[in-house]
Amino acid sequence: MPRIEKLPQSVVNRIAAGEVVERPASVVKELLENALDAGPTRIDVELEQGGIALVRVVDNGSGITAEELPLAVTAHATSKLRTADDLDRIGTLGFRGEALASIGEVARLTIRSRQAGGVGAAITVDGGRLGEVVPDGCSVGTSVEVRQLFGNVPARRAFLRAAQTEWSHAAEAFVRTALAHPGIAFSLSHQSSATGRPRRAHDLPAAVAWRDRIASLHGHDLADRLLEVEADDGQIAVSGFVGRPEDDMASGRLQHLFVAGRPFRDRAILHAVQEAYRGLLLTGRQPIAFLRFDLPPDAVDVNVHPAKMEVRFREPSRLYRLVLAALRSRFLSGGTGTRLVAPAQAPPPTAATRLTADAPAAAAWAAPVERGGSPPAGLPWPAPPAAAASAPAPAEPPAWERDEQSPAAIKPAAKVERGVQMHDRYIVVESGDGIEVIDQHALHERVLYERLKASVATGGLEVQPLLVPERLDLPPAELELVTEHAPALERAGMRVEPFGGSTVIVTSKPALAGDTPARDIVREVLDRLAAASSAGGSPSLLIDEVLHGMACKAAIKAGDPLSQAEVDALIRDRRLVPESHHCPHGRPTSLTLSRRDLDRQFRRT
Ligand code: ADP
Ligand code: MG
Repeated sequence: MPRIEKLPQSVVNRIAAGEVVERPASVVKELLENALDAGPTRIDVELEQGGIALVRVVDNGSGITAEELPLAVTAHATSKLRTADDLDRIGTLGFRGEALASIGEVARLTIRSRQAGGVGAAITVDGGRLGEVVPDGCSVGTSVEVRQLFGNVPARRAFLRAAQTEWSHAAEAFVRTALAHPGIAFSLSHQSSATGRPRRAHDLPAAVAWRDRIASLHGHDLADRLLEVEADDGQIAVSGFVGRPEDDMASGRLQHLFVAGRPFRDRAILHAVQEAYRGLLLTGRQPIAFLRFDLPPDAVDVNVHPAKMEVRFREPSRLYRLVLAALRSRFLSGGTGTRLVAPAQAPPPTAATRLTADAPAAAAWAAPVERGGSPPAGLPWPAPPAAAASAPAPAEPPAWERDEQSPAAIKPAAKVERGVQMHDRYIVVESGDGIEVIDQHALHERVLYERLKASVATGGLEVQPLLVPERLDLPPAELELVTEHAPALERAGMRVEPFGGSTVIVTSKPALAGDTPARDIVREVLDRLAAASSAGGSPSLLIDEVLHGMACKAAIKAGDPLSQAEVDALIRDRRLVPESHHCPHGRPTSLTLSRRDLDRQFRRT
């Protein structure tokens, strides 16, 4: 065994950097936190090549004195903490004194700073080598530049994704921070290649109301439709905005949680949000939520995650119940304008009621909720976070499905099929060997998707020009997405053109989309593109996202009454579609109750 030795400081820093600095987005986050802790009114962020080549954050906050500059980049040196007791009441975003030292270890870091009435100075740390403090003619505040991230750590650099992917993560980090601090003006610009010109992705004026900040980030169309929520149990308060059920999303991209000016992740709380929408959203769809929590500093521990992405609450189940109560009372008090109705009160699951996967939720949904107060103890609130944190297990397939051959083996019925619509959401038909119950939305979505895909592939897509183009007001990041993916959209029949400023117009849509507003389709598609491109999706996957988004928005919904002709057409269409027994998300489109099983149940055999 080699002897035990104390590690040199640079190795310690490099190890810490492994925890704190994962990618350009982590640099953006740490530098923004430092800037915010300095009490500025404005923060400007510039990136080059997704932040790999450069991250620059400029604030007009308090600044750092020339004497303190070397300390700022030293590990475990901070102005925000003095004693261990301070850890229990942290009022700043930073406190570990690690970020600048870690970043300086794995990149070239330059800080320029000046305090009001003082002289400006600068310092550079390059791959852990500390330079001299030199005079600098900068304005009051601090500018921090990080160049060539992981330039001296090839093993880490190899883990960075394409600049475009890093850019979308970095932009996300910016958005989360900007959402947490509406009162401060922010801007974000990006130069995507060495030759290109920088483009402004966000320009956010200081806002008075949180909704205004949400609007400048995500557009007025979205922000104006949000529902305000608020609840308080005497110690903990939650407030913010949630989306209407019909404004659901393909991803959880617009679910944001904040505590004490800090964005954080928490699966249990997001589970409570989903639970509140139970019965109002289709499986796999995600609600919009912007929620902030106010609670005493000793009720939350922020020192549990090296990159401060997670926090620990003293009483997590209390937050869970509060969120659930706040959202449910909002929905039950009406005014959401939703078309989907909560499932009716159901008896305990039997063979018959198990057809609706969400039937057991109905009892909880229909339970009365006390307005404004803490959630009553005796009501059937769902499992507390400990149990809820793990994703709910998929319901066991009904018995008749398990002991039957796979649904793929359904034979066409001998006679003409007639479907009967029930509850405005299911269609029941006689099938070759039993009775089929079809989910009208899932099946229609599948049919539309397959048709769109086939006609795009053969170049035979029927495109319908719009007599009156539809206008859409988009935030800068989405404007960029639309521009970037305009060719893919056009291949799929949607022509989207710039109309000056933040406005685009949609001038055509695929005829298959029927009378679904083109703007709804564009929104859905953008949502999916944003999620897919931050995951680094390939172009062919992206066009598939476009088609999925279209099919999803254009399909008939649960709750839409259908004429007999429409029911018949849907049943007929499904024979033309391969694998029609699953919707594009993989949910089943139909369940089969076999004749053999029916005979057995009625004791005919
Ligand atoms: P921490 O933020 O945890 O204290 P950092 O390494 O991020 O640790 O920063 C070290 C110190 O440098 C901070 O405590 C702060 O005093 C100073 N500092 C960093 N960035 C800024 C800034 N933008 N404005 C003023 N002071 C700063
Ligand atoms: Mg810091």
